[in-house]
Amino acid sequence: MSEFNSLSGNRGLQIEEKLIFEMGNEGCIGVDLPEPTPFDLERLGDAPVRAKVGLPDLSEPQVVRHYTRLSQKNYGIDTGFYPLGSCTMKHNPRLSEKVARLPGLADLHPLQPQKTVQGALEVIDTLAHWLKELTGMPAVAMSPAAGAHGEWCGLMAIRAAHEDKGEGHRRRILVPESAHGTNPASAAMCGYSVDSIPAKENGRVDLEALKAKLGPDVAALMLTNPNTCGLFESEIVEIAAAVHGAGAYFYCDGANFNAIVGRVKIADLGIDTMHINLHKTFSTPHGGGGPGAGPTVLSAALAPYAPVPYVVHGAKGLEMVEGKREGAKPFGRVKGFHGQFGVFVRALAYILSMGSDGLRQASSDAVLNANYLQARLGDVLSASFEGPCMHEALFDDRFLKDTGVTTLDFAKALIDEGYHPMTMYFPLVVHGALLMEPTETESKETLDQFIEVVRGLAARAKAGAAEEFKASPRLTPRRRLDETMAARVPVLRWKPAVE
Ligand SMILES: *Cc1c(COP(=O)(O)O)cnc(C)c1O
Repeated sequence: MSEFNSLSGNRGLQIEEKLIFEMGNEGCIGVDLPEPTPFDLERLGDAPVRAKVGLPDLSEPQVVRHYTRLSQKNYGIDTGFYPLGSCTMKHNPRLSEKVARLPGLADLHPLQPQKTVQGALEVIDTLAHWLKELTGMPAVAMSPAAGAHGEWCGLMAIRAAHEDKGEGHRRRILVPESAHGTNPASAAMCGYSVDSIPAKENGRVDLEALKAKLGPDVAALMLTNPNTCGLFESEIVEIAAAVHGAGAYFYCDGANFNAIVGRVKIADLGIDTMHINLHKTFSTPHGGGGPGAGPTVLSAALAPYAPVPYVVHGAKGLEMVEGKREGAKPFGRVKGFHGQFGVFVRALAYILSMGSDGLRQASSDAVLNANYLQARLGDVLSASFEGPCMHEALFDDRFLKDTGVTTLDFAKALIDEGYHPMTMYFPLVVHGALLMEPTETESKETLDQFIEVVRGLAARAKAGAAEEFKASPRLTPRRRLDETMAARVPVLRWKPAVE
């Protein structure tokens, strides 16, 4: 393909955008300000003298264009298909967004007197009710601000429970090899050591290996279900029994709850605590760093240790409990104020608008869509495990053997085709992973188009087009970036060019 270079550096209507500090003319300003009253520099003495702050010198239209163009460089779930696995990039119904923007909810201040925010407390309390209902669990800590934060909260409750029983010596946490990186990180942050347990050929936890690792120093097992290979842990009830038999607790990573909402009450599986990524299961735009929310449900054994604050029905209406109460032994507080309120509003709007039938339908459709991808791609890609999957389809790079094309090259080629790539190289238990999660709202038409592109790329790779793959992405404003350098030596501060 011969390269066409435009005179301007722009590509069609795609503008080659400078940094805002590199634009503008000295002295240009977007607003009219009155002349400042002069003051006596002498009087300042040795006090610091104002330095030039170095704000960009731009007019209002220049600023508007810059930020509008930047916003157009974003790729999001509202722009196109986003098959990122393990992230559940869900469509966010506009209804949830509209409700979250209602002034009576959006304009609250967390320090307002409680009697003026009874409606907001009711939102938190009602959402808590439905989260307990959907999981079958008796208690929920609403304040954790993300999935990882919920993991930490659940483990802190486990630690408090063990210490209360005089079993504070339990310091080991078992985590399967396929776990999300936040699991061992949360355990380490709670002061635990992490011991990994292997998976079986079929991608599930090896029950016998788990039993062999259990002992009097084990505090908990952290298990994701459905797991990060997109598989339901079929022996989960036996796993729970073994963990409890050894005096430990069972933490479930609930990031993949979207696959089982309305179908399984996790209390029936013997789980003691699980975080729910509201931003993955109950709408809320995520990606790019939040905000999210990770309410963490707790079994009867762990409920007394739930962190403050929480909402109770008091004599004068709903009350936010901030301190110690009769019968409760909160391990502390995990967040300023009471959690991510805007995310709560979206989640409640989503749950109530879907209803129990809608929630059940959504999880069923999410699983159906993933199985459709797996079935239609299974003959050209290499599925990592036999049998149907849950909400995400996992492939590895065996289909690229001897082609000279890697999973990374394949992902870059997808960008040229207008697709955000699937998750790559995670989970670590299979080689060169390609993890695809379509979610429930994608139409068959969208999936068919994506399938045709993936099939076409696989055929191209097998036909010996490695050079082409290595050169991709070719149609993006920037070509292939040095991602290792970007991660290891990030350049986070702009410096003016030396004149
Ligand atoms: C997303 C995810 C997490 C972490 O959730 P955050 O909200 O990003 O902190 C943990 N485990 C799994 C399996 C996940 O997919």
